[in-house]
Amino acid sequence: MRILKTQTLRGPNYWSIRRHKLVVMRLDLEELIEKTSDQIPGFYDGLIKVLPSLIEHHCSRGHRGGFLERVQEGTLMGHIIEHIALELQELAGMPVGFGRTRETSTPGVFNVVYEYVEEQAGRYAGRAAVRLCNSIVETGTYAIAELEQDLADLRDLYANAALGPSTETVIKEVEARKIPWMWLSARAMLQLGYGAKQKRIQATLTQNSSILGVELACDKEGTKTILADAGIPVPKGTVIQYLDELENAIADVGGYPIVIKPLDGNHGRGITININSWAEAEEAYDLASAASKTKSVIIERYYQGSDHRVLVINGKVVAVAERIPAHVIGDGKSTVEQLIELTNLDPNRGEGHDNILTKITVDRTSLAVLEKQGHTMSTVLPAGEIAYLRATANLSTGGIAVDRTEAIHPENIWLSQRVAKIIGLDIAGIDIVAADISKPLREIDGVIVEVNAAPGFRMHAAPSQGLPRNIAAPVLDMLFPPGTSSRIPIIAITGTNGKTTTTRLTAHLYRQTGQVVGYTTTDGIYIDEYLVEKGDNTGPYSAGVILKDPTVEVAILESARGGILRSGLAFDSCDIGVVLNVAADHLGIGDIDTIEQMAKVKSVVAETVKAEGYAVLNADDPLVAAMAQKVKCKVAYFSMNPDNPIIIDHIRRNGLAAVYENGYLSILEGQWTLRIEKAVNIPMTMGGMAPFMIANALAGCLAAFAQGVDLELIRRGIRTFKPSADQTPGRMNLFNLGDYHVLIDYAHNPHGYQAVGGFVRNWEGEKIGVVGGPGDRRDEDLILLGQISAQTFDQIIIKEDEDTRGRERGEVADLIAKGIVRENPHICYEKILNETEAIETGLSMANQGSLVVILPESVTKAIALIKPRISN
Ligand code: ATP
Ligand code: ATP
Ligand code: MG
Ligand code: MG
Repeated sequence: MRILKTQTLRGPNYWSIRRHKLVVMRLDLEELIEKTSDQIPGFYDGLIKVLPSLIEHHCSRGHRGGFLERVQEGTLMGHIIEHIALELQELAGMPVGFGRTRETSTPGVFNVVYEYVEEQAGRYAGRAAVRLCNSIVETGTYAIAELEQDLADLRDLYANAALGPSTETVIKEVEARKIPWMWLSARAMLQLGYGAKQKRIQATLTQNSSILGVELACDKEGTKTILADAGIPVPKGTVIQYLDELENAIADVGGYPIVIKPLDGNHGRGITININSWAEAEEAYDLASAASKTKSVIIERYYQGSDHRVLVINGKVVAVAERIPAHVIGDGKSTVEQLIELTNLDPNRGEGHDNILTKITVDRTSLAVLEKQGHTMSTVLPAGEIAYLRATANLSTGGIAVDRTEAIHPENIWLSQRVAKIIGLDIAGIDIVAADISKPLREIDGVIVEVNAAPGFRMHAAPSQGLPRNIAAPVLDMLFPPGTSSRIPIIAITGTNGKTTTTRLTAHLYRQTGQVVGYTTTDGIYIDEYLVEKGDNTGPYSAGVILKDPTVEVAILESARGGILRSGLAFDSCDIGVVLNVAADHLGIGDIDTIEQMAKVKSVVAETVKAEGYAVLNADDPLVAAMAQKVKCKVAYFSMNPDNPIIIDHIRRNGLAAVYENGYLSILEGQWTLRIEKAVNIPMTMGGMAPFMIANALAGCLAAFAQGVDLELIRRGIRTFKPSADQTPGRMNLFNLGDYHVLIDYAHNPHGYQAVGGFVRNWEGEKIGVVGGPGDRRDEDLILLGQISAQTFDQIIIKEDEDTRGRERGEVADLIAKGIVRENPHICYEKILNETEAIETGLSMANQGSLVVILPESVTKAIALIKPRISN
């Protein structure tokens, strides 16, 4: 058994609309294709010994043990790999459940699809599952040590990818509110929402956090001065830079007890509190001075009381925690050392800031603190007695937090809210030392020792005691006040042909509203009329460029098959999903072999439309019209035929549609007909002669109308959208060369050839075709291109693409020729493999009134050949 390819999906996809995080593993069962699990001696017994917890998998049986029954009775290895990949993740603490295994058209090759929580761990689980299974097949077992190593690696991968505790708190609420989020590529910044509606955060700093406020908070002395000026109680203190100033400073603050700390410190580094003698003061001075970049040291009066953190968000106190320094409680028999070990066993305690609590570590500071209390590490503490290991209450040095949100006195709330405003912070953590937070600070000689920008959330979201507080909610209420959206309209467009044309048209229609439109196509990524990046941009990366851009107010995204299969859509929902058509193209690529499977791929776009949005579907294409059954949103149809029964029925139910009627492109809204414009006045329809362009125009207008664009603006847009070689190269570019005309078009599959043929057959003069086709298509598709060419043209030149996409030179041309002869053995045709030569020959054959149709590999090259010949 061998993994051929692994893909990671991150959005709505072919396998599931709802489950975005899936691994797709293409697996060659090799010789195991011959055997189901019951035919491999010892496999079942080996498997249940290694992974007994598989008993929990219901599988298709719908009851506990269901999956193991299937293994016992005999099932194929792909299916077993799926369940093991899921179970390994489950055992490593990542809950997953969804899986599918499907045969491909290649014998012995399967697609094994399963859910993941973290993508690296997900892919790892697949590889481990194959290892495990191969081993059971070959040896009857898998070493326990191996399994344990796999699980340890999986846990590591999971832990490494974990968000910080504050960020995780925010993201949980973001997801609960269905706000999309993504990482920006630098500085651990997160984007919440899309385009112009996005907001950014970084830990607990937001884009509203003022740089002035943050810098003031980081300057402890400045903060104290400004607060003192506002009449807010702060510790009496002074700043010195030399040891010989210490004695005076102590006198200035009123004598012992005092606190000494670095001016520019944090996390309690370099602080000594409750100093009662000159010797202690000297030592504390050295410690603080060493911890300060500027060698500046604060001397402060020591205030009795415990440490409180008041969290103010957007002007309101939202949580209060009392912080208790790292400590142990005696049991009458254990030493301090043993008690610390015991305390650290708490699974909530981890290293650094990653966990709810941090492990207690013993260093010189803690030994000194113990000594002050008359203890050493080997003291046996009497039952119930507390020994502190730190003087300060930072969680990161092992302290704990107790929720006091309900206890705080209203006057202290008022005070804290003023402090946050005075410092100028949208999110502020205010450190208060007070004996009892339920009394006004002034009465009990409490003080505000510091204001923190970017305060940690974990002590409020997961206090050691008391109620957890949802502090992410006020953050999000601030960034996205109730009633404002985090999203911009997204219009996604798919289909076999016409995506780029319709995307460009829709963007042009939307531009009439004056909004900034971002759109992606096979030609490039655009914002307004400017090119951001050239090239085929129809996958999730390009959609990401648009959705991340803070100037974009509307996103219009060509969503091609390749991107959907490779990684799923880049967005979790859209407002409008347009499906233009589904035709035989790209079949046999990416395990999509039938047109029905292709329809399922394109249907992902329609099924991703949110409930209030519209799927814009082609009523003339049965596979597309049938998608109406699967969507959860409203449906709007377009059709070239106002008598199409689907349209008639839809209108009767007061539905929305767009049709081509009596020479007009019209919107139907229930019984009302709103005429947009006559086809002959719409340049892209080539005077109404290109029926498929009318269809594309209907789809674009309908998408814009359904999303609320004013009909008058749509009308203006459709009149000014020109399929010129400059605006839409390769899309029905008609050139007048005086005596004859040349049409350059990008058609490269039978459906496209038919479409262009629809126009060409309307041409009165002689029709010369310069035709070809991409080498990675099926033989039958290339033969069909030949047949359609024979139906369309009077004379044909067959050329080949420079990139033969894996075929022998001449093979594509032979297949096309075969189709031509099959259709009409008498037609005049010639093979000239070189595209430039073929085009030159085609042009030289033109007579008065001829139309030379060029369907080139390189549109740019072809246009460059024609342009110099234009006479006027
Ligand atoms: P953090 O990064 O955790 O905010 P820090 O290094 O910024 O810590 P401070 O907040 O100034 O330092 O002090 C840490 C703790 O020391 C305070 O929360 C408080 O418990 C205590 N403390 C500081 N100054 C005084 C004081 N004047 N009187 C009493 N206790 C104090
Ligand atoms: P690609 O898959 O290459 O990105 P696309 O779907 O973006 O193609 P366009 O670039 O808009 O399609 O058009 C390419 C060609 O497909 C056109 O030049 C025309 O020949 C043909 N075509 C466009 N619209 C339709 C349609 N509605 N029906 C059939 N063929 C069409
Ligand atoms: Mg502090
Ligand atoms: Mg395209």
